[in-house]
Amino acid sequence: MDLCRMPAHELGRLLRERKVSALELTDAVFSRIDAVEDKVKAYLLLLREEARSQARAVDAALAAKEELPPLAGVPLAVKDNLCMTGVETTCASKILKGFVPPYDATVIERLKEQRVVFTGKTNMDEFAMGSSTENSGFYPTANPWDLKRVPGGSSGGSAAAVAAGEAVTAIGSDTGGSIRLPAAFCGVVGLKPTYGRVSRYGLVAFASSLDQIGPITRDVRDCALLLNAIAGHDPRDSTSAPQEVPDYTEFLVPEIKGFRIGIPKEYVAEGIAPAVRDVLAEAVHLLTRMGAVVEETSLPHVSYSLPAYYLIAPAEASSNLARYDGVRYGLRVEGEDVVTMYKKTRSRGFGAEVKRRIMLGTYALSAGYYDAYYLKALKVRTLIRRDFDAAFERFDMLLSPTSPTPPFRIGEKVDDPLAMYLTDICTLAVSLAGVPGLSIPAGFAGHLPVGIQLIGPPFTEGKLLRVAYAFEQEAGITAKRPVL
Ligand code: GLN
Repeated sequence: MDLCRMPAHELGRLLRERKVSALELTDAVFSRIDAVEDKVKAYLLLLREEARSQARAVDAALAAKEELPPLAGVPLAVKDNLCMTGVETTCASKILKGFVPPYDATVIERLKEQRVVFTGKTNMDEFAMGSSTENSGFYPTANPWDLKRVPGGSSGGSAAAVAAGEAVTAIGSDTGGSIRLPAAFCGVVGLKPTYGRVSRYGLVAFASSLDQIGPITRDVRDCALLLNAIAGHDPRDSTSAPQEVPDYTEFLVPEIKGFRIGIPKEYVAEGIAPAVRDVLAEAVHLLTRMGAVVEETSLPHVSYSLPAYYLIAPAEASSNLARYDGVRYGLRVEGEDVVTMYKKTRSRGFGAEVKRRIMLGTYALSAGYYDAYYLKALKVRTLIRRDFDAAFERFDMLLSPTSPTPPFRIGEKVDDPLAMYLTDICTLAVSLAGVPGLSIPAGFAGHLPVGIQLIGPPFTEGKLLRVAYAFEQEAGITAKRPVL
């Protein structure tokens, strides 16, 4: 029995049946971390002792025959942009080195109620800006399927940890693809929920109108379980929706006859690698065989999502990141006066990509350019949202590749920001429209995993999970794990 390969729902059953203890499970995961972390570098911080004591407490509760939530005792990794009381939170940025939040993000609070075991904080692109985790201010993470390749980003550490067996499940955040892309690159499941489905309270802000927190898991059932745990309204985040949270596991029936699925032709156009097209074509074949009706459709404005995103996200980031000035927390580099101190702190603390975004955003928001860039981008965003609305009048959901290519080599795109930005070409519009996007493993390009993305109308995560579940049962991809 390899505890480091099993999904959370199976481990949960073993825990409840007392076939394995939470401490054994936690120790198994940390042994795995000891064995492979040098190669993968998924974590920025490990919480070994804390995890062991959380596990012991779960074991005590189990021994006392307490009724425990489904994820109790399951080792879970957290992206390092979520605040956790007493645990350093850096967003993989030197500017936040040493910052220890005095409070829990709502998602962390809810996971504590679930009694999960927190393994540690995972590596990411600095402030979640990037697609490969190479923008981490500390070190890059490797893809467990091929250590010379990137795990995707920005939640690369979370996805790599789950794929490598260094955590059973993980939490990521997604602003333009940061959960879905690394999930696809690492052969795991990743969900960006509808904007407002999950509270952002305690998530360090990148672009507030786009940021969402979501699950990264080994299979679809785990994704449903984790979404159950974190979704729902939170009075501390006014953008969280008061919408009721269904039990997402109830959607998991392998029956999709008559489901109407659209393939936006813009997502199978030039620039999509042949291997990715092949995987998508096979997925379509399989879904059709299962009774779904798959047809081509169009999202006419989706080709503008990259420029729109790279005006809106940096604009919001330039404002959100103004708070890192060396005064209250994080890095402070002294200077002769306060302005010099700001300058020195920010020059030394932020990495190149973060500075590029701040400059882009500041420019787009400046007087004289605001209408031409920022306002225009907002209008384009509305057109993109309407494209999705129109498509969803005809289709239950849309299907696309998650990424135009399989995972690329470490270093391959670091000197070409545009090439890097293009990695998100299939995920950006979903974020701009605020709709849910679910990436699931669908096949391989040689030894490298390839993911596909299911996109639905707002608050249809249940339906997406249902189709993903049916597909997963039929395709049986998740059984394969990387050998390290
Ligand atoms: N790669 C995109 C960016 O760099 C999206 C990142 C994200 O979703 N956080 O902005």
